[in-house]
Amino acid sequence: MITEMCQNVVPPDSKGGLLADQMGLGKSLTMISLIALNSCKSTEKGIFTTQGYLRRLKSTLIVVPYSLLETWNNQLKRHLKPDTLTWMRFHGTQKRKIWTLGNFDIVITTFETLVRQQKRHEDTEIREETLFSFSWHRIVLDEAHTIRNRATAMAKAACAVNATNRWAITGTPIQNRVTDFSSLLEYLKIYPFSSPKVFDTEIAKPWLKSGDKDITRMKKLVNCISLCRTKAIIDLPKREDLIHNLKFSAEEQEYYDRAKEGTIRKLDAALSSNPLQPGQYLNALQWLNELRLLCNHGLVHSNREVNKTVSITPQDTQVWNKSTGNKAFETIVCANEAVCSVCGNVLSDGAGQGSNSENPKPYLAKCLTLTCGSCIKDSPSGQPVPTCSHVPLCKSVEVSWTPDIAISSGKGKMLPDIREEHVSTKLKTLMADLQTCPKGEKSVVFSYWTFTLDLIESLLIKAGISYTRIDGQHSGERREEAIQKFQTDASIQVILVSITCGGAGLDLTAASVAYLLEPQWNPMMEEQALCRIHRLGQAKEVKTVRYRIRGSFEERVVQAQDLKKEIAAEAFNMQSRRNPLDNRKRLEIFLRMRYESIDEGPSSMSRSNQSNALRG
Ligand SMILES: [Zn+2]
Ligand SMILES: [Zn+2]
Repeated sequence: MITEMCQNVVPPDSKGGLLADQMGLGKSLTMISLIALNSCKSTEKGIFTTQGYLRRLKSTLIVVPYSLLETWNNQLKRHLKPDTLTWMRFHGTQKRKIWTLGNFDIVITTFETLVRQQKRHEDTEIREETLFSFSWHRIVLDEAHTIRNRATAMAKAACAVNATNRWAITGTPIQNRVTDFSSLLEYLKIYPFSSPKVFDTEIAKPWLKSGDKDITRMKKLVNCISLCRTKAIIDLPKREDLIHNLKFSAEEQEYYDRAKEGTIRKLDAALSSNPLQPGQYLNALQWLNELRLLCNHGLVHSNREVNKTVSITPQDTQVWNKSTGNKAFETIVCANEAVCSVCGNVLSDGAGQGSNSENPKPYLAKCLTLTCGSCIKDSPSGQPVPTCSHVPLCKSVEVSWTPDIAISSGKGKMLPDIREEHVSTKLKTLMADLQTCPKGEKSVVFSYWTFTLDLIESLLIKAGISYTRIDGQHSGERREEAIQKFQTDASIQVILVSITCGGAGLDLTAASVAYLLEPQWNPMMEEQALCRIHRLGQAKEVKTVRYRIRGSFEERVVQAQDLKKEIAAEAFNMQSRRNPLDNRKRLEIFLRMRYESIDEGPSSMSRSNQSNALRG
């Protein structure tokens, strides 16, 4: 049907599929309904497989990233009537006796726990049951693109679970490479494409050979196994997207121009040395970041403490210890460039935040090769994964960073006190917009930076607007509390959300307006945030507002969102299975592209030529 070839044997039945609905359609709710409606009817006690006898369970195993454990728990609480389906969380230290699992309709676990369990299962010394000792009625992988690299321990563990029905949930089945999809097919056991070899010759090769033109086989295959519905299928109220272009005040403009000139000078110097040194990339990324911060903070930025961060010197990268490593990691995360060199997963700010084994910390080598904690800890071979591709290995350190690490947590946090005349154009506009909001209308305010949210928080207090807030430092339960308060308490008018926490699963449908303070490097991040208010459950028409400072670097960030796609393509060409993508090379390309777009002056043409020459 897909390859238009015939075969003589009846193919094994594949039950399940890929749930890839558009964001905001309530994918987890769809899955919960499926579980509730289709309970296990088989009465068989167990099955014999190549791994021996497996006891059959009526339960559904849901595997989720650690960060979504609490979200799933709350979804189940919200959508299931009491005394209907039962569920439990099986992870970390909270594990219950394994033989009780069969008493629950749903067992939620994490990718990390699954990998650990598989190790225990394969260890012949340990003779106890694991998640792999059963034949499950159903397995569901949430954020299934996590297993895009079939060589990782997570992908292997997910494929090894025995289950009658296999489902995968993802908003992005294919990110950069067509082979991303191969791993999902292997997990779903879609015969015959579950074999990477068949997928390669029948799907991937024809697709790559013809470029973007002939994707018919790929398309057919995707259509056969997946449910990709768009918002058109449900009656969502209208969404209006607005862009508010703002103009710096004369004072701000002067300050910004000075900063920009300085940045261009530094970039010129850095990029004229070839090859670039790691310290120079990092500094360059930081300078570009400063320009973005300036657009949010205006004159406040000049006396901002955090602004005095030590930049990374060439000597620092020579030393390469925990503090330089963390600083470098922060810079890479802020530039949305923290990609694991092994599994290709993007690490956001929460990465490696917890010291617990569920969320192991990533390693960053001196050459800026990044390897996520899961890839380090759970290499399929059992041997530690090399932290970079150089011989001898470059020095590497365990890194972690959260935007709030420098600020004391909890209620005792000191908010910045800003003088009236120093409030930036952007924040003034936001406050005016919030204050003219009709009574009873709720708003969400997104920003990448905690410091920006701090500034807004102090302005909200001054204006007497009641609010709540969620950001990276909040535990799952505290976050959930803040969201509940916003959703149900009529007196709360605003919720401040750090955009890196505003991702999957968050439901802020009590709001009908969303403000996005600044453009993000990653356009997906913006869309995901705005979908928090425009999703299943929203009854009112919604409005989204994006602020942009005219003529500033922010306009280039928007252009870079398109460049990002080119980079992905370029990265694809550079990457081979044997030789994991060199992070430094990638950063260099990225930096050059951003540099070329820093201003549109007459020199940009020659600069672009120069960098093309350098790249060749
Ligand atoms: Zn990884
Ligand atoms: Zn290296």
